[in-house]
Amino acid sequence: MSLFSSKKTKKPSASETSGLAELALKTIHDGVLITDRNNIIQFINPAAITMTDCGSANNAIGLDYGLLIKLESKEGRELSDQENPLLNAMKNNQPLESFRGSLIVGQTNKRLPISISVLPADNLGGQKIITFRNITKELEEEGAQTEFISTASHEMRTPVATIDGYLSLCLNPATATIDARAKGYLDAAQTASKHLGKLFQDLLDATKLDDGRIRPKFKPMEMVGAVRTITNSFQTRATEAKLNLRFGSEDISPSDSRRLNQVVYGFVDPTFLVEIMSNLIENALKYTPAGGSIYVNVLGDGDRVLINVTDTGIGISADDLAHIFQKFYRADNSDTREIGGTGLGLYLVKQRVEAMGGRVWAESAFGEGSTFYVSLPRLTGEEYEKRMIAFNNNINGGIK
Ligand code: ADP
Repeated sequence: MSLFSSKKTKKPSASETSGLAELALKTIHDGVLITDRNNIIQFINPAAITMTDCGSANNAIGLDYGLLIKLESKEGRELSDQENPLLNAMKNNQPLESFRGSLIVGQTNKRLPISISVLPADNLGGQKIITFRNITKELEEEGAQTEFISTASHEMRTPVATIDGYLSLCLNPATATIDARAKGYLDAAQTASKHLGKLFQDLLDATKLDDGRIRPKFKPMEMVGAVRTITNSFQTRATEAKLNLRFGSEDISPSDSRRLNQVVYGFVDPTFLVEIMSNLIENALKYTPAGGSIYVNVLGDGDRVLINVTDTGIGISADDLAHIFQKFYRADNSDTREIGGTGLGLYLVKQRVEAMGGRVWAESAFGEGSTFYVSLPRLTGEEYEKRMIAFNNNINGGIK
């Protein structure tokens, strides 16, 4: 006998179903808000009342949702309107899935880590359903996991360095005598130990931001000069690899009206900027065969600083492009198999760019080179001057 033909009890009536739905909304731990087409709160469930500390449903109903749900980035940074995904989803009537941020609770200084989603319910006349979940426990568990990885990487770096040291001694004719066959084996062992050392270093760097051991330390900067200096520090390596590395020499597109070599101000962590640019340029050097070119540019694009690293290298297929910013992802093909790597560089880039309120993405086609873009918040000349004075007075621009 099929499951569906077994005896069923009577179906609940429409009013019973709506009673059950209400019971579910009242008892679940997730906060639920329903707004009308103008983003005015029409409904709030008890979990949302508690999380927002608004006291009662009566205090919330009739308010603009933005007065109740104020978000910061998960690192505790103010979100500009442009980078606030909740605001964009609500304004443009678009869905938002599981954005992690900090809820600024009521008038207090309390911050609650949440994951928030928006579902536009078009069929109901422009209403939107906002759901959010307290993720304190989830973050604690992830934190413990990250701490374990970071401690393990730290501890394992020392023995790996020792192994590498002894292998170097074996391979040095001044300190050891070995035959050609042994040299082949030891060369392979040293390549593997160097890879392991790099893997532990990358893991340590990636986990430092994940577990909050480092936070961006913002400084007002002139971005064209800063990125030019970083690019130039790779000239020797580019020459050794027979690659042409140029700064500010190729427009994003010939018709692009955004001027090159303008003065562009940003508010960034200088160490993060070096790490981001170094990873992107190192990748361009790694994945471009000898004879190719790499172009790095910085442009002012409205209220954004737009950096691009373009190469004429092996390119990335559409399938791989969707995953390259994930931890440990490496495109697996006959070109990349020969080239060493850990699959952590772009994860680290994304993590650091986002911690500074930016976005990173890539455009590429397999066999046709790649362009990596980094877009960061831009400062006007006036804002730069003000932040510089504040920075020099050690106030850090009043912004964490
Ligand atoms: P890896 O250590 O493997 O270079 P990354 O995280 O830096 O790790 O990059 C992830 C993957 O993205 C690489 O394995 C490679 O397949 C691809 N990739 C990154 N940059 C480029 C590039 N400039 N050209 C072609 N492929 C690239």
